[in-house]
Amino acid sequence: MDRDQAKQKLIDSGLVIGNAGLDDFTRGHISVRDPADPNLFFMKPHSRGLDEITMDNIVTCDLSGEKVAGSARRHSEVFIHSEIFMARPDVNAVLHAHPKHAIALSVAGYPLRFWSLPSTEFADGIGMFEQTRDLIRTPELGAAVAVALGKRRAVLLRNHGIVIAGRTLEECIVLAITLENACEIQLMVHNAGAADAPEIPMDQVESLHAKLKVPEQYEVNFDYLVRRARRAAGPA
Ligand SMILES: [Zn+2]
Repeated sequence: MDRDQAKQKLIDSGLVIGNAGLDDFTRGHISVRDPADPNLFFMKPHSRGLDEITMDNIVTCDLSGEKVAGSARRHSEVFIHSEIFMARPDVNAVLHAHPKHAIALSVAGYPLRFWSLPSTEFADGIGMFEQTRDLIRTPELGAAVAVALGKRRAVLLRNHGIVIAGRTLEECIVLAITLENACEIQLMVHNAGAADAPEIPMDQVESLHAKLKVPEQYEVNFDYLVRRARRAAGPA
């Protein structure tokens, strides 16, 4: 993958997240590591919706969070991205968003329960960040989010939103939607008064997890979501 391909995938990712209803006005942001330089990453600009990323408004930042290229404004929460890229060489894509059901689960303080197939994507569990409910506007807070994430794929910022760390943008986007689905189903179970319902046995959680986390699965599903989002957007 070259730089332009990575940027195009970032544009498509924003379109998919918007189409999936995981956007919140112009808030939330997504980034992908520069395939030509692991110390740089491309990121959605401030003041634009996730579905408004273009080749011209993408900003390039380094691992200290400084903008090194691009004329658009940089998100003040860039440190979520820079600090995770620094802490996790295996991660090449980061998303921060405000999906309603994930936020509600974080408010309730419920641990993720293995009640659905989407939940098994997160067989390793999800982190919980509680140091602040305010914005992540310093390298120190960004580093604390990376610690709360640990080696996992997702962390809830309590009362605030989600952060997803993917090996690829495809994985990152599919995981964000999957986490929201898992949280919605879990809340429905709680609302039904069925919190005593048995979870999927752990050996089957592991088995399902192994089947889901194949890179090809994310690519196939991401490509489908891009086609669907482009159809919904209509002719350019
Ligand atoms: Zn936020």
